[in-house]
Amino acid sequence: MATVGFIGLGNMGAPMAANLVSAGHAVRGFDVVADNIETAAAKGVTKAPSAREAVSGADVVVTMLPAGQHVRSVYDDVVAAAASGTVFIDSSTIDVDSAKAVHAQASEAGMHALDAPVSGGVGGAEAASLTFMCGGTADAFAAGEPIIASMGKRIIHCGDGGAGQVAKACNNMALAIAMIGTAEAMTMGQELGLDPQTLFDVMSTSSGGSWALVNHCPVAGPVPQSAANNDFKPGFAADLMLKDLGLAQEAARAAGTATPLGAAALQMYRMLVAGGAGAKDYSAVIQMLSARD
Ligand code: NAD
Repeated sequence: MATVGFIGLGNMGAPMAANLVSAGHAVRGFDVVADNIETAAAKGVTKAPSAREAVSGADVVVTMLPAGQHVRSVYDDVVAAAASGTVFIDSSTIDVDSAKAVHAQASEAGMHALDAPVSGGVGGAEAASLTFMCGGTADAFAAGEPIIASMGKRIIHCGDGGAGQVAKACNNMALAIAMIGTAEAMTMGQELGLDPQTLFDVMSTSSGGSWALVNHCPVAGPVPQSAANNDFKPGFAADLMLKDLGLAQEAARAAGTATPLGAAALQMYRMLVAGGAGAKDYSAVIQMLSARD
């Protein structure tokens, strides 16, 4: 069993750290918010007084932080405190440039580095059923995979450093576009007098169907567990989708890729969030389409 330094014990990090404890690892956790350390400590995580002390003597370091700037500043602080050969796993969703920068920083200091963003949300973090999209060398992946296995179900090696973040940005951009298309179709069908259940039955077994429709149907009724049945309580918050679409557009700009629908999806989510719906599920984008005077 490994000694793990875990930095960032928020909505996702706390349950992920708890799953490492359940798997028998010794986990030392740190967060800048003292209450979040207490929440994790109640689940068996040992409290560390600083990020450096969480990392010192650890075999593995996991970070689960809000954005690239936080990951860069934590790596600046802790890489020097870790022993050569420590496995650094960053599971935050961050921009590809920051992922590559911290990857290079850790690798140059003799560490194994993986970017390993996740899909599956807080429910997946609690159930240890997250999907991990990993970027890094084959050696880093081999070193990190057994630890990640205690926090997730699907672990995919996507390529070199940064490839996990690229996969995450591509996936979430496609999801947003699919959700908006689904919401447009469901709204148009209803306004032309079609029963949503009937349209769902057709689309879910036809070429217009999608993962977004069958799992997160934006109309109440056809998919009982979808957020539309629960006043659009997330699920996956529109705020986080907006963040991910911003990262996808940064990546597209850097690559010179044309992503006209990704850009349009970003604007739709910006409007949704500006209208006060940032804390609602991302499927609430349908409310912008179906609003009537
Ligand atoms: P969160 O805001 O709940 O947690 C982030 C934690 O990092 C907070 O507790 C914060 O205090 C801590 N933190 C910030 N700066 C720090 C520092 N310098 N040192 C130590 N701790 C620091 O966010 P979350 O929902 O847990 O998400 C974490 C990451 O996972 C984000 O990148 C997010 O985009 C991604 N993600 C979230 C979800 C989700 O459904 N919540 C799903 C997939 C991916």
